Amino acid sequence: MKQERFSIVGMTHPVTNSNEFLPGPVLLLGAPGVGKGTQAKRLMDAFGIPQISTGDLLREHRKNHTPLGMMADDLMAKGQLVPDDLVNEMVAKRLTEPDTQRGYILDGFPRTLNQAEWLDQQLADSPLPVVAVNIVVPERELLERITGRLSCPVCGTIYNVYSEPPRHARVCDREGAKLIQRVDDTEPVFYERMKAFQSKTAAVIAYYRAHGGRFAEVDGSVSVDAVMESIRATLFRLRQYSGT
Ligand SMILES: [Zn+2]
Repeated sequence: MKQERFSIVGMTHPVTNSNEFLPGPVLLLGAPGVGKGTQAKRLMDAFGIPQISTGDLLREHRKNHTPLGMMADDLMAKGQLVPDDLVNEMVAKRLTEPDTQRGYILDGFPRTLNQAEWLDQQLADSPLPVVAVNIVVPERELLERITGRLSCPVCGTIYNVYSEPPRHARVCDREGAKLIQRVDDTEPVFYERMKAFQSKTAAVIAYYRAHGGRFAEVDGSVSVDAVMESIRATLFRLRQYSGT
């Protein structure tokens, strides 16, 4: 794992020209269904930076039986939540690794106002502060993206009854298998998730909005490429980068 990271650094750290764009720490936000995962992956590839996901960090620490991982194991065995402090420590440790120098994409962190403040303190000496980019898609469209989703159990093709319907209702174009819908791709589950997302991120968004020039929204209802382009342009603007 470590080895791999170092080799990635080697590739993305040629002696850089002074004009090279430094993305710095980027917090990508978005409700379920906006395509955050796809965009995160694009940004990683485009800028050669890693994604730091607290879910992945926790899994890695537990798997490798690190001191932090074992503390998390103990708490979880008692049915307790992993506290912010412990997650913060995992993040702090991850940020000391060399592949984070040019920037990284934060996923699932900071989740609270406290974590956002903690992270700013942590990065007080870094050249670039965290910027937050929220991918926004109208609720109606998100609802259709999720509740319209059908997949083929045989070949895995994904359809959408609103935007990419199969030729015949509920039947796969390829081999005619009956398409299935995931049990939690329903309207009530969707609204529950939206509510959870909004209540979770409102304070974090407010924080970056209040701390000048560190928050932006991009329209996520256009094509994957167009969303990526507008995230890139947004980062250039937030970082006051004029390009090469
Ligand atoms: Zn099929």
